[in-house]
Amino acid sequence: MPAEYTLPALPYSYDALEPHLDGATLKLHHDFHHKGYVDGANAAMKALEEARAAGDFKLVDHWSKKLAFHASGHLLHSLFWTNMAPVGKGGTPSKELAAAVNSFFGDLEKMKAQLTAAAKTVEGSGWGVLGYNPFDQSLVVLQAENHEKKAIWSVVPLLVVDVWEHAYYLKYQNRRADFIAAWWNVVNWDDVSRRFAKARQLKGLS
Ligand code: MN
Repeated sequence: MPAEYTLPALPYSYDALEPHLDGATLKLHHDFHHKGYVDGANAAMKALEEARAAGDFKLVDHWSKKLAFHASGHLLHSLFWTNMAPVGKGGTPSKELAAAVNSFFGDLEKMKAQLTAAAKTVEGSGWGVLGYNPFDQSLVVLQAENHEKKAIWSVVPLLVVDVWEHAYYLKYQNRRADFIAAWWNVVNWDDVSRRFAKARQLKGLS
């Protein structure tokens, strides 16, 4: 029985992140775009289940691609919502996260500068990602094109910023850099710290 994906509720109201992220965009983004990835992942899972039952894999290339795209979109959006909190409610990086960031990037500001630059320069639709790699116990900043390209196998995303135009176009139009700068104001460091603590338990993958 394949897994079934469900759309998680937002952990705050649509307008809770204003003025940095506007409520109209957030509602469209969550209710329409994220739901589309949930539905797309479930459709791909169902099609692959039917292919196995029929012993007919002539469309396996198509559905494998759809599954990777939609399931990755669902995962990244699920993180994106919890990675944010209303201004003043996002806490600060834990001692452990701060120490790891300092060790791998120099300091928090340098990590933020790299993640900002990576997100700003993604070609087309994509994401900026701060992730933990349990293979070598490192922190890394990545770009993702669409939702799934340019990943490193085994990296666990901790903090993600959506730079698809649907994430910012109503308020920021073509000004992706302004959106990223505003987004930093609503980062939920408590959530990022919690994800880091859990990801670090994944040892022995090397
Ligand atoms: Mn999105």
